[in-house]
Amino acid sequence: MQQSVSIRDLSLSFGAVKVLERMDLDVQQGEFLVLLGPSGCGKSTLLNCIAGLLDVSGGQIFISGKNVTWDEPKDRGIGMVFQSYALYPQMTVKKNLTFGLRVAGHKKDDIERRVARAAEMLQIEPLLERKPANLSGGQRQRVAIGRALVRDVDVFLFDEPLSNLDAKLRSDLRVEIKRLHQRLENTMIYVTHDQIEAMTLADRIAIMRDGIIQQLDTPHAIYNNPVNLFVAGFIGSPS
Ligand code: ADP
Ligand code: MG
Repeated sequence: MQQSVSIRDLSLSFGAVKVLERMDLDVQQGEFLVLLGPSGCGKSTLLNCIAGLLDVSGGQIFISGKNVTWDEPKDRGIGMVFQSYALYPQMTVKKNLTFGLRVAGHKKDDIERRVARAAEMLQIEPLLERKPANLSGGQRQRVAIGRALVRDVDVFLFDEPLSNLDAKLRSDLRVEIKRLHQRLENTMIYVTHDQIEAMTLADRIAIMRDGIIQQLDTPHAIYNNPVNLFVAGFIGSPS
């Protein structure tokens, strides 16, 4: 199977503090990979390296076979959704969705088509003329996902996108993200510290601790055969 994201020998330090050390990771084309681990284990750092928001200390990152280690974020074919939405507060939802496309020089009717498709998929058509301040948390997060969606990216990166939402919205949006993945068939790397989210969304889960992947396998395999006590405790299986 074709690899969509490959991490080779990746290291990242903040000063003297090593957060990631010589990490290898392969994410398959179309796969939904969940990075699961406790707070502070380096999940966001890894996503930010893949997105190009942090310079690596060593190693390489390949996206769709291309070495992007030193490419600009916008040239990597990725879209990122953050916990904190990061919408432009002064712009309407529609402007938030179209801003990047206009900067990139897309034609007007192409932009309209992309926005209509994303708005339909995320059920945000009635919200297009509103400002972010007038949206609920769940609606804001749909818009944030929409902003990645209109760009037609190969790889979606999600950094704890649901952790600011209440339990009901979390489970609703979880279902929608899963549906979106089934419809788009693109590659998703999804960071969470929530075991339920990981178990329900993932094709495979990578369990991280202190910047090291402890186990990478299907939810079923990890649940039934955890490689160590940390994994067993974290995934909540009885052994
Ligand atoms: P996670 O997303 O798994 O909670 P992070 O990737 O945010 O973890 O952080 C991993 C480690 O790196 C933590 O110990 C954190 O304190 C440290 N860290 C993250 N960002 C910085 C930074 N900009 N400067 C210094 N240390 C950082
Ligand atoms: Mg984080």
